[in-house]
Parts: sequence; structure tokens; C-alpha cells
Amino acid sequence: MKHSKVAIITGAGRGIGAATAKLFAQNNFAVCINYKSDSVSANKVAKSITDIGGHCITVQADVSSETDVNHLFKTVDEQLGAPTVLVNNAGILRTQSRLEQMTAERINSILINNVTSYFLCCKEAVKRMSTRHGGFGGVIVNVSSGAARSGSPNEYIDYAASKGAIDTLTKGLSLEVAAEGIRVNCVRPGLIYTDMHADGGEPERIERLKSNIPMQRGGQPEEVAEAIYWLASDKSSFSTGNFLDLAGGL
Ligand code: NAP
Repeated sequence: MKHSKVAIITGAGRGIGAATAKLFAQNNFAVCINYKSDSVSANKVAKSITDIGGHCITVQADVSSETDVNHLFKTVDEQLGAPTVLVNNAGILRTQSRLEQMTAERINSILINNVTSYFLCCKEAVKRMSTRHGGFGGVIVNVSSGAARSGSPNEYIDYAASKGAIDTLTKGLSLEVAAEGIRVNCVRPGLIYTDMHADGGEPERIERLKSNIPMQRGGQPEEVAEAIYWLASDKSSFSTGNFLDLAGGL
């Protein structure tokens, strides 16, 4: 069945992506929950959506692979209809490290998963949404990070630099497609309670750092999802090329 409001959320099996998928479904979007490896978590998110009468599909795709991204968008075309919203959210980080310890393998893996993936998904979205290609417009929201501005010294400069690239992608693409019915905006979360920090080797990272946050607490994935939803909705209809920092004042 084809739907009029279709959102693709990459990396939606957990964390910010999962909260975003649920919020879009609550707002009558047909949602594509993309995941890379954890089908159990993706299916749980899907069940929580169908339990409240929402509509969604799960699609396994490594968004750093062009073949997989093509498969992801083709599946959405066939099962839900043309995407009206793309949320580029999937991302990785590696164990905290100084730059001298970073290998080319690590740096390239960060860049392909955090940057190439966003470019590939934007490309497929623009091909479908742009009035230049016969589309009816749409919205892209990129999930960057406060790290793009802090640089994450002694932790992960590679990750921070990948998010800096997402800020530049947002700016450039927003201008490239502004007259073609597509808005492109970005959220920059600060310290958000998800499993990502465990992947960086420090599950309790936010507890260590939260006294530096003016609001004295970390954020919840749902608080980021609300901002993503606003940027994707008609409520932000004159906003493009903009950045929303969600970091409790940090
Ligand atoms: P998370 O809990 O680690 O979840 C990330 C998800 O991305 C995972 O479910 C993973 O899927 C998926 N993923 C990773 N690489 C993928 C790929 N190549 N293809 C498809 N899916 C892939 O992360 P999060 O904390 O929610 O972060 C979401 C976004 O917010 C990321 O872009 C992150 O950089 C950004 N962010 C997070 C924070 C924070 O404090 N948490 C702060 C600033 C920015 P599988 O589990 O299936 O492998």
C-alpha cells in the first residue's frame, strides 16, 4: 500500500533513531526502520509501532554500502511509496583514543559509516524528492553532533571530524536543492543517554561529564526525536540549511 507520508530513519533499531521512528509513527507516518545488524532490536521497535496501530517496515541495510542503500530505497518505494522524509541518523564511534593511536582502518571506517552513508542516502532521497526529477519535494534531517564544534580531543577526533563533514553536507545540499522543494536541516545533539557511549568504551561517560552541562544532565533520545520531527514537519516550513543544537546549553 502506498502512503502519503513516508519516513526513512537510518539506524533506527535503538537510541535516537528508535525514538524518532516511534514519534513519526505516532504522527501518522509510514516508517522504514533501517538497521545494520541487530534485527531483534529493530523488530522490537516495529512491534511497539504496530501495537499502537502504526505502520512500519524493517529493512536491513548497511548504509555505508551503495548497493545496500539502493536496496533500502527500492524496498521503501515498493512497500510504502516514495519517501517524503529522510532522517540520516545511523552512526558509529570507536574506542576513545588519542590521534596517534588511530589507524587508517579505523579512520576510514568512521568516515564511511558516518559520512559516505549520509551522502548515499541523500543522493537517493534527492532523486525521488526533487521537482527537478519529477518529485513532489521532501525533507532531509541529518543527525550531526556537538562534537563537530568541540572536536572531541582525547576521545574521538575522527568521529568529531565526520560530524563536521555532516554540517558541511547539510549546508551545501540545502542550498543546492532549496528551489527544488527539498529542505535540508540538521540536529546537533550533545550528550544523550544511548548505548553509543558503551561502544566508545565508557558506558558511564555522561555521568562523568554531566557537571559540565549547564542544565546539569544528559538528554534523552526522545528529546532529540522531537526536534527532528519539528524540522521534518510543515511547522518548520521556512527553515533550511539550519542547525538545532540539543545539548542542554553545552
Ligand atoms: P546508537 O545507540 O549507537 O545507535 C546507532 C544505530 O546506528 C545502531 O542501531 C546501528 O545499527 C546503526 N548503524 C550504525 N552503522 C550503521 C550502518 N552502516 N548502516 C545502518 N545502520 C547503522 O547511537 P545513538 O546514540 O542513537 O546515535 C544516533 C546518531 O546520533 C548518530 O549519528 C550519533 O553520531 C548521533 N549522536 C549521538 C549522541 C549521543 O550522545 N548518543 C550525541 C551526538 C550525536 P545496528 O545496531 O543494527 O548495528
